[in-house]
Amino acid sequence: MGLLVQKYGGTSVGSPERIAAVAQRVSRAVANGDKIVVVVSAMSGETNRLVDLTNQFGGQPNEMHRDLVLATGEQVTVGLLCIALEKIGITAKGMLGWQVPVLTDNAHSKARIQNISGAHIEAVFEDHQVCVIAGFQGVTGQGDVATLGRGGSDTSAVAIAAAINADECQIYTDVDGVYTTDPRVEPKARKLNSITFEEMLEMASLGSKVLQIRSVEFAGKYKVPLRVLSSFTDENNEGTLISLDNEVSSMEQPLVSGIAFNRDEAKVTIRGVPDTPGAAFSILGPVSEANIDVDMIIQNIALDNTTDFTFTVNRNDFERTIEILKDTSDKLGARGVDGTCDICKVSIVGVGMRSHAGVASTMFKSLSSEGINIQLISTSEIKVSVVINEKYLELAVRALHDAFQLDKAPEKTAEKA
Ligand code: ASP
Ligand code: MG
Repeated sequence: MGLLVQKYGGTSVGSPERIAAVAQRVSRAVANGDKIVVVVSAMSGETNRLVDLTNQFGGQPNEMHRDLVLATGEQVTVGLLCIALEKIGITAKGMLGWQVPVLTDNAHSKARIQNISGAHIEAVFEDHQVCVIAGFQGVTGQGDVATLGRGGSDTSAVAIAAAINADECQIYTDVDGVYTTDPRVEPKARKLNSITFEEMLEMASLGSKVLQIRSVEFAGKYKVPLRVLSSFTDENNEGTLISLDNEVSSMEQPLVSGIAFNRDEAKVTIRGVPDTPGAAFSILGPVSEANIDVDMIIQNIALDNTTDFTFTVNRNDFERTIEILKDTSDKLGARGVDGTCDICKVSIVGVGMRSHAGVASTMFKSLSSEGINIQLISTSEIKVSVVINEKYLELAVRALHDAFQLDKAPEKTAEKA
């Protein structure tokens, strides 16, 4: 018997039938003796439809007004799930963000949760069996409805789990867990039984879309045990547990846990930059002033006192970045600017690589034996990323999946005495 938060995403509540199926699943947990707090998303497609509606009046709508519209998607699901639960004899109470309350800052459309009081949630269990809460929304200090950014109901669920000290936060979605890589690219991808928070954060920020990044950060910070499961498969499937890093000894970790990739980046280069102090700042200063996020940065060793400076940005910012760089190039007396959107980033991630050398070279060898040229490289303690031509993305992911034998469950190596 425990206190569980179960979050159901858009596809899990995408139709009255799906909502009835969720009610059944919740009722089985209740029969088990668990106290269940359910957090729901809007029905699939609904938030997009609402965003679209707010764009029908020309120009950018006021974010505060838009939040009033977007928050309605979740309200509908809360009510429908309560109806479905009562139909099968489970007493439920539904709550919107302001009723909990989920207190946020004033950053409408991407508000951050500041505080959640668990008292109203706990009180629900005095005369109801289940508490159903709208995800993705909260209320500002001024009393206005605010939303948390797309995918934000994951974060709602984790924050609520932290506030009521739940035993586990279960995120139900349409995939049955976190995979070694996207199964649409590599059919041999294997579901992981567990992954550490650190790895999950890297996977999420490198393009794996299973969980909103913020929810993973939150769970790591407040040590909320998090599990990703499918609401479409049978109940014996335990999904993927996102575990606290210190719970698993790194001796037991495979070198590489997963492969992430990202097609959203573009590469730009400014050539023949005079090699003087302040050059990097003169190049990146105007880029960051234009609010353009830079990812990888590479500066070559200077030859004849000039150097080439390359970095990656989001594809949406490509044209703007080139314009800015042309200007910088003229000012600095550089040789010119070029760039391409024809790239992708492929990364291997694993806390196990911290204690083992040679992971990067295995990666490079595997790419070279497929004839794939590496354009940029960056590394951190638990990941190695490369930029390659976009047309080799699938090939690279499959080659790396093979090279690190990710289709096989890792053997547990005995811990050193
Ligand atoms: N309904 C919101 C969205 O589609 C929040 C969520 O699903 O997590 O972004
Ligand atoms: Mg969602």
